[in-house]
Amino acid sequence: MSPETPFDLSYPELEQLLREWGEPAYRARQLWAWLWRRLVTDYAEMTDLPKGLRARLSQELPLRLPRPGALQLDAEEGTEKVLLHLTDGEAIEAVLMREGERRTVCVSTQVGCPVGCVFCAAGRMGYRRDLAPEEIAAQVLHSARRLREAGERVTHVVVMGMGEPLLNYEATLRAIRNLNHPQGFGLGARRFTVSTVGVVPGILRLAEEGLQVNLAISLHAPDDALREELVPLVKRWPIREVLEAAEAYVAATGRRVTYEYVLLSGVNDSPAQARALARLLSGRLAHVNLIPFNPAPELPFRRPPEARVEVFRRELLRRGVDVTVRRSRGVRIQAGCGQLRARHLGGSRV
Ligand code: SF4
Repeated sequence: MSPETPFDLSYPELEQLLREWGEPAYRARQLWAWLWRRLVTDYAEMTDLPKGLRARLSQELPLRLPRPGALQLDAEEGTEKVLLHLTDGEAIEAVLMREGERRTVCVSTQVGCPVGCVFCAAGRMGYRRDLAPEEIAAQVLHSARRLREAGERVTHVVVMGMGEPLLNYEATLRAIRNLNHPQGFGLGARRFTVSTVGVVPGILRLAEEGLQVNLAISLHAPDDALREELVPLVKRWPIREVLEAAEAYVAATGRRVTYEYVLLSGVNDSPAQARALARLLSGRLAHVNLIPFNPAPELPFRRPPEARVEVFRRELLRRGVDVTVRRSRGVRIQAGCGQLRARHLGGSRV
């Protein structure tokens, strides 16, 4: 991969490049700190780098950052969502959520999505392209700059925005490793959550990375037939294989796996389906996150009544499965993944 910007480079690659340019070894450390810790957006601000080097960097490794556009705020919930315009005219969104001491950024890894979940308009829109590592990291860095104005920091990153991260594996991992690097942004690996629909080869590969990131698997159904209806791409990976891969992940990392389950009224929210889900997961190091559907006008699904959500939750709990119901953060500003983009560009997601 040829880097487009310095944010695409890993630390060793930056060291190597500057060595080839005849720069002393400490330059990489200086430049890395400017980019990832001080969060500057212009080489001119890097005052301890020689002018000649800054000029060469501007020429050969330009700082092309996504341009922030429309911003939606929900002051009451502390959620904000900004559209970031990419250099090729595409756009992605960074969602920042404030909850107690937590400052969580939800990032996208692709423009559009190849998975095609029927309850998600981003999926219906189809896949447009993968994001580069820099474009993934930029969503976090943008929020970090905003938080800095209030003396705050990003505390968590969830890779749950538009796209399937394990189908853009290299770029996603590169962005995570760069954000995790102790001499730069320095966000601990356990502060990241990677969410997949169950791309088995990607889960197995992630298990081998030696990174303690959290894994979330979107299951959405307790049997293969319904799951294939709701999430067409997963035909390739039946639930049994997904759970085996998850076990390998637990064995390699010791991390509990979260199973995401969007509750669609009358589709996958019955007590019998809850019991079937419990049978799949009981006895595993697992946690279920129930997400009552965020209605979108263009999608033919409804949110289940609260009472039905509660019955589903209790059926799981009664069978020893750890479960929470996700509060619908961002509903008022349509911060469900893809929905800001939908409003401005024509797509959407739960
Ligand atoms: S819900 Fe996620 S995985 Fe499914 S189509 Fe939408 S963006 Fe893709």
